[in-house]
Amino acid sequence: MKKLIIISIIILSVIFSFSQRFLPPVKDSYLTSSFGEYRDTGDKPHFHLGIDFSSFSRIGYPVNAAADGYVYKIWLNHKIYGNTIFLYHPDYDLLTVYAHLSSFNGLISEIANSVIGEVGNSFAEVKFPEDEIRVSKGEEIAYSGKSGEAEIPHVHFEVREIKKSGNDEIEIVRDALEFVDYVEMRPRKLEALEIRSNNRTFKLLDDQITEIPFATLPKLEVKTAEKIGNNTKIVPRKISLRVNDELVYEVEFDAIRNDEMYSANAVYGYGSNIFTYWIKLYSSSFITPIKVNRWNEIAFTLKDRNPAELILEDIWGTIKIYKLVLVKEM
Ligand SMILES: [Zn+2]
Repeated sequence: MKKLIIISIIILSVIFSFSQRFLPPVKDSYLTSSFGEYRDTGDKPHFHLGIDFSSFSRIGYPVNAAADGYVYKIWLNHKIYGNTIFLYHPDYDLLTVYAHLSSFNGLISEIANSVIGEVGNSFAEVKFPEDEIRVSKGEEIAYSGKSGEAEIPHVHFEVREIKKSGNDEIEIVRDALEFVDYVEMRPRKLEALEIRSNNRTFKLLDDQITEIPFATLPKLEVKTAEKIGNNTKIVPRKISLRVNDELVYEVEFDAIRNDEMYSANAVYGYGSNIFTYWIKLYSSSFITPIKVNRWNEIAFTLKDRNPAELILEDIWGTIKIYKLVLVKEM
């Protein structure tokens, strides 16, 4: 009997934790972009704050609510997001965001159309009172499109936390992959192709130690990506550098504040674009994705030859390590 109770508790907790996760916004779809990627599209360089799901290149493909909640606000004609719907989920105290839409469903569609009648192609935000337009998990709320900066139709999905500080509200955008019920089935490969040091480029190879020269302080940048299946390329979730057995620098794309959206150049080096990610292994800025930045402490301990490790990690637990030696140039 006791055993049966324990088993039932385990089954119930598994079902509970499963049901806690958000439904992906597009049914039977797959990931095409990850959180924190560099974007040089739209009005100016910025972080990609969502994860993208394929709408099978179709305009008008159904977009579904991730969980029960109500419509928080909509954006019309946003330069980057295009037509967008924000839902608030009281059970999670989180917002979910669906962007680049072609149109909305039901009552939201009627309201959007009447606002568009007034504003035309200009940007507009419509906020809704709490609980006015309720949605349930899986409900069709809108249709996919390519409004805003999207080049091909897809669904951009975000998870946001609202933080109040005094009278101000800050939204912290989180890596939606932490919340969504999505299993990546395609083969994955983390890779770092090249490192730049003082404007010189060095190729990295698997199972080989690469010597990287530096002058006074190593200011390295790494060209990196994770390949998924045949045609998806995302930025690795975490990139770190250990020098002489000490963690010196670490970037992790777990959360980015919405007011940090245009600070992408603090993390990405020149030559970065929607498909190419040059990650800086140094920075003079402090923004949420930069978790460790200890060059100031470490600089004076550097020797002539410094064994180092570049570590790439993804959200599914894969790790890839490249061995380096940082060599001081006389
Ligand atoms: Zn996107």
